[in-house]
Amino acid sequence: MTRDADTPDVPVDDEEARLRVGPPADHAAGLKAVQVSMAKALGQMGVVKTARNLLTLNQNDGFDCMSCAWPDPQGRRHTAEFCENGAKAVSWEGVRDTVGPEFFARHSIADLAGQTDHWLEKQGRLTHPMVRRDGGTHYEPISWAEAFALTGEHLRGLAGPDEAIFYTSGRASNEAAFLYQLFARAFGTNNLPDCSNMCHESTSVGLRRTIGVGKGSVSLQDLHEADLIIVSGQNPGTNHPRMLTALEVAKRDGAKILAVNPLPEAGLRRFDNPQKARGLAGRGTPLADLMLPIRSNGDLALWQAVSLLLLQAEDAAPGTVLDRAFIESHTVGFDEWEKHIRDLDREAVLSATGLSWSQIEATAEMLAGSKRIVHCWAMGITQHHNAVATIKEMVNVALLQGMIGKPGAGLCPVRGHSNVQGDRTMGIWEKAPDSFLDAIRDEFGFEPPREHGFDAAEAVRALRDGRAKAFIALGGNFVAAMSDTEVTAAAVRGAEFTVQISTKLNRSHIDAGRTALILPTLGRTERDLTGGREQRVTVEDSMSAVHASRGRSAPAGPLLRSEVDILCGIAAATLGDRHDIEWAEFAGDYDRIRDRIGRVVPGCDDYAEKIRAGGFVMPHPPRDSRTFPTPEGKAVFTVSPLEVLTVPPGRLILQTLRSHDQFNTTIYGLDDRYRGIKSGRRVVFISAEDLTELGFADGDMVDLVSEWADGRDRRAERFRLVEYPTPKGCVAAYYPETNPLVPLDSQAAESGTPTSKWVVVRLIPAAG
Ligand code: SF4
Repeated sequence: MTRDADTPDVPVDDEEARLRVGPPADHAAGLKAVQVSMAKALGQMGVVKTARNLLTLNQNDGFDCMSCAWPDPQGRRHTAEFCENGAKAVSWEGVRDTVGPEFFARHSIADLAGQTDHWLEKQGRLTHPMVRRDGGTHYEPISWAEAFALTGEHLRGLAGPDEAIFYTSGRASNEAAFLYQLFARAFGTNNLPDCSNMCHESTSVGLRRTIGVGKGSVSLQDLHEADLIIVSGQNPGTNHPRMLTALEVAKRDGAKILAVNPLPEAGLRRFDNPQKARGLAGRGTPLADLMLPIRSNGDLALWQAVSLLLLQAEDAAPGTVLDRAFIESHTVGFDEWEKHIRDLDREAVLSATGLSWSQIEATAEMLAGSKRIVHCWAMGITQHHNAVATIKEMVNVALLQGMIGKPGAGLCPVRGHSNVQGDRTMGIWEKAPDSFLDAIRDEFGFEPPREHGFDAAEAVRALRDGRAKAFIALGGNFVAAMSDTEVTAAAVRGAEFTVQISTKLNRSHIDAGRTALILPTLGRTERDLTGGREQRVTVEDSMSAVHASRGRSAPAGPLLRSEVDILCGIAAATLGDRHDIEWAEFAGDYDRIRDRIGRVVPGCDDYAEKIRAGGFVMPHPPRDSRTFPTPEGKAVFTVSPLEVLTVPPGRLILQTLRSHDQFNTTIYGLDDRYRGIKSGRRVVFISAEDLTELGFADGDMVDLVSEWADGRDRRAERFRLVEYPTPKGCVAAYYPETNPLVPLDSQAAESGTPTSKWVVVRLIPAAG
């Protein structure tokens, strides 16, 4: 690790000096994926653990992949039911190296602050509860009992419960999430931000308003049966790789795939299925039939234009394009919306999308000729100022053709962290509805707070402004994940007290509160013997299927505790017998938690029994019966103005994205072979036209400076320009390195999601 002379606060991996750039790949997976998976697994876990972990990953009686939230197939499963990124995630967790008291004695917090995130996580699994006492330079060991007592003491010492923030990452199990929200509310606050605030919050808001349920409406079978699958603002090859198998099945049965994305990602082009000889031989399945290289933020305009063309096609051949019966019986708002769409400004569409009108016509023809359409999307849609409006517009298109609540059709937001959807179902929500809070009150006999709590951005503001003083994190790496890194880090460092319940060392242990605890927890791969019996937990995937997860490997150290056990310890030490909640009994038998979930959470009746029977799918009225629990009792067409966002001359739109060697903030390695990058992450993908226009060349080193209404320039230094097929005016670079460029207050309307796909930047030559 070195520090760049001009950027004393930003550690840079030594390996970056060997950065190499080649051509992007034209396909995903294949033999290379198998080689990379096995090399990582064997190198980090050894032969025995590799076999045990990978053969139980995503199996019926095994553990659920801790990476993305893509669903498992029903029925028979492959022996290897995982992708390269699942294997990387398991290897990352199952690594033999450990980080204990000797490590922390050797490294002061100041030393650790000079290391990269990649280095920090590479050190191994946390094995001991550790504390940094106020004014201390190092973390020191602490007993579990003292750690719980210290937490209780700090939380009880706050001026009020709203001075505490309880953050959740999407790895937490349903049982841990349910207890965590129960504890926070019994303590007296709804300050329950989660990683959903940073990713699919826009989806939840948009879908709740239009169809009455903030979740997707499809099953895996629907993808298999679709005749058109639209993949918008999503890179499945890196972020949800087993989705490629579903796309392959659909293609085999004649489906078409429409990819709408600024970058022509390898995983949208061809899939070499490593489960098949053809795939291993490099003769895989071509995927996208049409790729639209849309400008960042052009999606709302695209879908309005497609709607206009569908309306016009229906005019020309009545009864052939729209589903009039569905519109009349199941929706409201059609007339007003139709009028708005018929007035669409074609020039504005072309300018917003950067597409030609003939590309948009080809898109509309694909939709008009399809009977079963699945609309998929991810962060490329949700992290914009107008993300909620865009999602509503995509719903309008689906409603227009009646593509919801029938086989082979529906809405498919694809979530990026394994249990992020389940955590929200369990009540990790700063704005939980009164019906949920009433159920908590009736079941546990206390009145939960009703005032909405802080979401992720508001949590940072509250810490920054001194309105919050304690920050507890159930997993994750909040400081690295959140926007405006310097502001976030300073806000967390200003907290009086922080707790990180973690498996591995990360930036959030370094940028921590004045008194800071690290509480090491079991991972998904590990056997959980809490309470002297073998326990299992449950999770919900992106398609609302709920099932059990049970690890088999020995824990990374004898002191590790499960998330449930840790939360019960904290709750008991903080609340004592204040609400007569059986914390110790919950830790002794997770079925007791599941019994309570069954009585509180809508759709989870007989939860424990259903899990014992193999799992179940959460109810979803639009999917199940074409009923829409909106205030109007029907699905809602919504009118959204078409705004064309522009930037001043010489500025570009930056989108932040992941590399293929990365899962959220976790960096497994410095390669991104799908985009031709080797041994480096500080790169900016930029079009040839922009290079010429701005007077740069491929290979030049630049600083990125973002501009925002507060007048404060934010800067990320020393990135190599990489000429790449991205639309003119749109550049891309990896997060978390570029998170410092996303202003905290730059948030999506209605959902508050950081606008990480729309950051106005200028490039300046890097010093030296
Ligand atoms: S697709 Fe997602 S959940 Fe499935 S194995 Fe890969 S990373 Fe894990």
